[in-house]
Amino acid sequence: MSKGKNCEAVRVVVRCRPLSRKEEATASENILDIDDKLGQITIRNPKAPPDEPMKVFTFDSVYGWESKQNDIYDDAVRPLVESVLRGFNGTIFAYGQTGTGKTHTMQGHIFTQISRTQNQKYLVRSSYLEIYQEEIRDLLCKNNNKKLELKESSDFGVYVRDLSSVVTKNATEIEHVMNLGNQSRSVGFTNMNERSSRSHAIFVITVECSEVGPDGEDHIRVGKLNMVDLAGSERQSKTGAKGKRLKEAAKINLSLSALGNVISALVDGKSTHVPYRDSKLTRLLQDSLGGNAKTVMIATVGPSHKNFGESLATLRYASRAKNI
Ligand code: ADP
Ligand code: MG
Repeated sequence: MSKGKNCEAVRVVVRCRPLSRKEEATASENILDIDDKLGQITIRNPKAPPDEPMKVFTFDSVYGWESKQNDIYDDAVRPLVESVLRGFNGTIFAYGQTGTGKTHTMQGHIFTQISRTQNQKYLVRSSYLEIYQEEIRDLLCKNNNKKLELKESSDFGVYVRDLSSVVTKNATEIEHVMNLGNQSRSVGFTNMNERSSRSHAIFVITVECSEVGPDGEDHIRVGKLNMVDLAGSERQSKTGAKGKRLKEAAKINLSLSALGNVISALVDGKSTHVPYRDSKLTRLLQDSLGGNAKTVMIATVGPSHKNFGESLATLRYASRAKNI
């Protein structure tokens, strides 16, 4: 199949976490096989007869359980961060079932790398917001019950009105801001995981650089990095969703499928219409998806036979995003 012009701008990679202690203790079988040289992941249906062919998926890269944060950074994230420092926008998504390592993959190391490449001439600001039930909230604001509006202007493109931002001078400060936001994220829920499995958290790092242009004047170059820790991709019926929960689930599914549609339209390159407007998430990220922006989707999966259905669904979603 011929690939669209945005194929290089969108990378889709898969990371598989190790079996957890609990899974090891309960005799979980590993149903995934990773070939990192070929970028292939093979999944075995634990209930299928042995002669049934296994499903093989191919991605830009795949990372097995022994992979380190740095491996993923060097291979998938670094080119994106470098382009942000040159004044372009970029977005990293973590997509997958709750408990498969989305947050683990997004946190920590990326900040260290940003501040390593960064020097005095950059001004770095951090913002942190959440989309829950198609409503936007500022995670760095004390009154985070306030719903924020999405606005569009010819100067700034799509932006969130009244979203706060904090000047951050190094990795420790960026991490501190993220921790503050995470604390406010768990309010009203019995635990952080419960909320994070149902909302999208978007950490935005804006990098400003002042340069003297050919006209001798100072020019400000702005790049933006969005780190999106998506809601859990698990089908909610499994958790017995009813009433309010069911509606909530429908909204999560809607925004995840809207995102899939946008990414596959971008990769395809032939689509005249990219459906950004179908969800808050895709509208908000409109200026950071497509065009000169680079996108990395990191799909995360667990290796246990108990997660077969969810892991297969994640691999299908990721492979559709890449139009493979
Ligand atoms: P999610 O955000 O997708 O719900 P987490 O990032 O919270 O999942 O990960 C769930 C658990 O698995 C955490 O205890 C985390 O430390 C562990 N974990 C996830 N990915 C890895 C990995 N690649 N290597 C080791 N431990 C991992
Ligand atoms: Mg998480």
